Amino acid sequence: MADKVKLLLVDDEDTIRTLVKHELQAHGYDVDEAENGPTALEKLSASPFDLVVLDIRMPDMDGLEVLRNIRENNLVPKVVMLTGVDELKIARDSLQFGANDFMTKPFEFKHLLTCINRVLSE
Ligand SMILES: [Mg+2]
Repeated sequence: MADKVKLLLVDDEDTIRTLVKHELQAHGYDVDEAENGPTALEKLSASPFDLVVLDIRMPDMDGLEVLRNIRENNLVPKVVMLTGVDELKIARDSLQFGANDFMTKPFEFKHLLTCINRVLSE
């Protein structure tokens, strides 16, 4: 049997991490989580992941800085950003900095799942 796809979910909001992690696990993914950028980078450096779901707005180190670090150090192949509706420009900028796609909060889980599966298959 093939190994499970490994995802890292990075968001400073507990409720989002808990809900999305639960749903992704229910769909067969191996999911770890991080509540801030430094923890995310630590986990990505320690073991291989297939994809990161990365919140843009977080205290201290924001998602774009985490993304820059990920790309500079080749930490993970695929990145999906999570963003607020008022941050669309930042979200589009993130594509130039190497994000594969982004989702606007609030989102329906099925749309995130579709997005993740498409990015993984690219
Ligand atoms: Mg946030």
